Amino acid sequence: MTACKTVTILGATGSVGQSTLDLIQRSPGIFSVEALTARSDVEGLAKAARASSAKCAVIADTARFQDLKDALAGTGIEVGAGEDAIADAARRGADWTMAAIVGCAGLMPVMAALEGGKTLAFANKEALVSAGSLMIDAAKRHGATLLPVDSEHNAIFQCLDRSAPKGVSRIILTASGGPFRTTPLDEMARATPAQAVAHPNWSMGAKISVDSATMMNKGLELIEAHHLFAMPADRLDVVIHPQSVIHSMVEYIDGSVLAQLGPADMRIPIAHTLAWPERMDTPCERIDLAAIGRLDFTAPDVLRFPALKLARDAMVAGGAAPAILNAANEAAVAAFLAGEIGFGNIVTVVARVLDRYAPDEPLSLPDVLAIDKEARRIALAVMESVIA
Ligand code: NAD
Ligand code: MG
Repeated sequence: MTACKTVTILGATGSVGQSTLDLIQRSPGIFSVEALTARSDVEGLAKAARASSAKCAVIADTARFQDLKDALAGTGIEVGAGEDAIADAARRGADWTMAAIVGCAGLMPVMAALEGGKTLAFANKEALVSAGSLMIDAAKRHGATLLPVDSEHNAIFQCLDRSAPKGVSRIILTASGGPFRTTPLDEMARATPAQAVAHPNWSMGAKISVDSATMMNKGLELIEAHHLFAMPADRLDVVIHPQSVIHSMVEYIDGSVLAQLGPADMRIPIAHTLAWPERMDTPCERIDLAAIGRLDFTAPDVLRFPALKLARDAMVAGGAAPAILNAANEAAVAAFLAGEIGFGNIVTVVARVLDRYAPDEPLSLPDVLAIDKEARRIALAVMESVIA
């Protein structure tokens, strides 16, 4: 691996951000941290910036700027605050940038990072679902390399034979089924935030954990795969695989299926993107197939997981639909986590917003951001008038 790759982490205080820092700190002298960003966790950001000797730390919440200055006083670490400062941090030209902000809030920083034409390790699926081909086109235009971090997409990336792209017949995403795979449906509809975020296999941030419980996460991932691998909707499948050992598969026209296996630890896909095109050591457990014993597969239950169909329909419809789906889901999940709506209401809200709002296809980034904002406004109105 080339010595001292410069690294920026957008969303450094989150689950993916912390796993990235863990790997970097285990490889002294290999990486040099350029910038770290966070939304409002000044303490977490300052701690990470000190520990990694970052050159710059930026907090999105401007009300916490003074706290960040105080926390990093005397360290020589540059500080910044606000959305524009986060985009500026993304523009500092690191060799490798981790996009690990949650939600469409990560879209502007991701687009800013792509401008540098370097490598973007990509976890922030909501940004890609919302901006779709605009983001893929920007990566191409700037000559940037997009490396998928989401475990399924990283698995697919590892299984793709880039010398014979026409040989791929199908991509099969695996899904654990989340915490409610076998819960009685009436009980599932009444699930609490604590129950919904208790994922059986993965430890993740709250938003993606709720998305895993509704399986909207797999729906967003279908759209993510559609863009990352230029794969039409009818060649993208989902299979439930409760053990989360196979992280996804690629089927070829000759009938071969390639799969990537490993423990459910995000540090493995992150390490793959950090070292790419080489490999690096990780402290992660190794899988013991004899101890695991069996791997199970079932078709997703469409009644239990209506979010999957909503997302697939939005992918097929294209245009503004994926951005609306994502924005309504973000608003509904936030309301659920705040105790304002029930678990069973999340998908209803998303479906109603998609029914009510049908703008033209977004052709620019400001178009996407305007659709995102309006879809959230409608989601709030739906939650107030219909659900509450
Ligand atoms: P998280 O909630 O743990 O962390 C989110 C990070 O984004 C934090 O650093 C937070 O400060 C920052 N952030 C949140 N809102 C922001 C805003 N408005 N402006 C600036 N920064 C903001 O989330 P996570 O679980 O680490 O997930 C991050 C992304 O990676 C998500 O898109 C998720 O879908 C994706 N992802 C996560 C995992 C996982 O294992 N956690 C796996 C695959 C994909
Ligand atoms: Mg995933």
